[in-house]
Amino acid sequence: MSQSRQPRRRLLIAEDEAHIASYLSERFTTHGFRTTVVSDGETARRAAMSGGYDLMILDIGLPGEDGFTVVARLRAASSALPVIILSARDTVADTVYGLEGGADDYLTKPFSFEELLARVRLRLRLREADSSVLRRAGIALETRTRQAYADGRIIQLSAREAALLEHLMRNAGSVLSREDLLSDVWGYEASEGSNVVDVYVRYLRRKLGASRIVTVRGQGYRLEGDELA
Ligand code: CA
Repeated sequence: MSQSRQPRRRLLIAEDEAHIASYLSERFTTHGFRTTVVSDGETARRAAMSGGYDLMILDIGLPGEDGFTVVARLRAASSALPVIILSARDTVADTVYGLEGGADDYLTKPFSFEELLARVRLRLRLREADSSVLRRAGIALETRTRQAYADGRIIQLSAREAALLEHLMRNAGSVLSREDLLSDVWGYEASEGSNVVDVYVRYLRRKLGASRIVTVRGQGYRLEGDELA
């Protein structure tokens, strides 16, 4: 059973060279990330738009839409997902084109995994500093102070309550299973019979009102609504 203070970060890896993709996936998993690999541009763009990821590592030479097109279309669609481009092209012109097109950072192949890891962590930290107030489903959550604002009230949350609420807010409108919540918020592997998720959902309902978090029988929990606060 593994344990971590933060929800595991979700990386989208868009890379069509299978050996690089599996290498990245393996190394990032070892460092506590959850990874999803996609191997063409259109799938990468759709996945990136799903809202289910914290950062995308994007190869430029992908089948279908190339990486430059993917990132340009993401930004055109107002996606703020951090994107780090990985590319064999190492000319200055390509770097500038990638960054002007909306990529956050750029690394050329061959690259050192340690450097990529450091850059991924930096991007995630910057993003968190940038967006410490999360607004969704009629709730505003200040993640640094763990204060929630809902129905005109300020609600102080514990660290775990805030982490659970943040995860529910980031996935507002979707049903999240107990197993996924246990893994994403507590960093545990699914453990049969643990009721810790239900206990914390009860705490949140007590603080935020019972109707916001819906029980979907046999499936899990869903935070109602996706409108902005
Ligand atoms: Ca490629």
